[in-house]
Amino acid sequence: MDLIDPYGRTVRDLRISITDRCNFRCTYCMPEEGMKWLPREEVLTYEELARVASICVGHFGVDGIRLTGGEPTMRAHLPILVQKLAVLQVPADASSPRAGKPIDLAITTNGATLRLIAQELRNAGLARINISLDTLKKDRFFEMTRRDELEHVLDGIDAAIDAGFSPVKINAVVQRGINDDEIVDLATFGRDKGIEVRFIEFMPLDASGTWDNSQVYSQEEIVAAISKVYPLELMPARGAAPADRWRYLDGKGTVGVIPTVTKPFCGDCDRVRLTADGQFRTCLFATNEFDLRVMLRNGADDDAIAAEIQRAVGTKWAGHNIGNVTFVRPRRSMSQIGG
Ligand code: SAM
Ligand code: SF4
Repeated sequence: MDLIDPYGRTVRDLRISITDRCNFRCTYCMPEEGMKWLPREEVLTYEELARVASICVGHFGVDGIRLTGGEPTMRAHLPILVQKLAVLQVPADASSPRAGKPIDLAITTNGATLRLIAQELRNAGLARINISLDTLKKDRFFEMTRRDELEHVLDGIDAAIDAGFSPVKINAVVQRGINDDEIVDLATFGRDKGIEVRFIEFMPLDASGTWDNSQVYSQEEIVAAISKVYPLELMPARGAAPADRWRYLDGKGTVGVIPTVTKPFCGDCDRVRLTADGQFRTCLFATNEFDLRVMLRNGADDDAIAAEIQRAVGTKWAGHNIGNVTFVRPRRSMSQIGG
């Protein structure tokens, strides 16, 4: 059965945050100190995560799962979770284009330790990797992440390519006055490596709560900066994917922009989210959550959990309203929800 929200959008994609912890402290995401971590006993076990995933795939034909966090590679024995999820098959009678095939399993990581586990993750069945990289400058990397890890992240990108992930993508958050002067350098980096860079507009999910519109470097500005150096052609509509994509006219690959703030793509959204502590959310910016952990731990059967997921999706809103007076910041920040 399809999982359809009140606005007629079919849910296909589940984002699972597997931890709220992180080895970085990106300024746009976390404060330097003082984050309150979830108590360990509140974090879902791999068995619990896999159970929710299997209900979403088996009952509702969800066909894509992305692991995120916090930093997902902080969880011990991550390949074991990947193995548990990689075997999930989209039911043959689902309306998904992947019906009868394995789910599309991906991860978003800061890449700091990827060089150590990329091959293991690949062998466990992980298909795709997005690695976050906002700057190629060592000092700026330290300022933005509060960690001196640029070399390791660059090694992680190479390790992901060598391990055969396809595609490997780079996520780069652009903040005005912080790293907007590196847009072309990052695009060049992607072209040279043969991987897609996806620039992300800065969103109001920073833990410090200091976001304001003036810090957002818009999709229009990003594309203008790149196309001055590398002429671009817009690719056909993106469907439910969050990035608009352009092709380099000289044939050297593609580049994407995720315009959450200036050009919301809520109308095509097919995503739902599970936080590390088992709260089901229908939007990154949702202000309400549905507690699946309690159900998982109180002996609820799969049908009951599926019914709760359906009830949650029945409350999904049309869009996030950033920029309007009616916008309310979610109680939790990006690393706590799972970006
Ligand atoms: N730790 C992993 C990482 O950094 O890739 C995964 C979790 S992180 C929350 C997921 C993505 O959200 C990253 O690409 C990160 O750059 C992005 N992100 C975090 N805070 C953001 C914000 N306030 N606005 C836009 N993107 C943000
Ligand atoms: Fe950690 Fe990712 Fe947030 Fe940076 S963006 S602090 S790497 S969770």
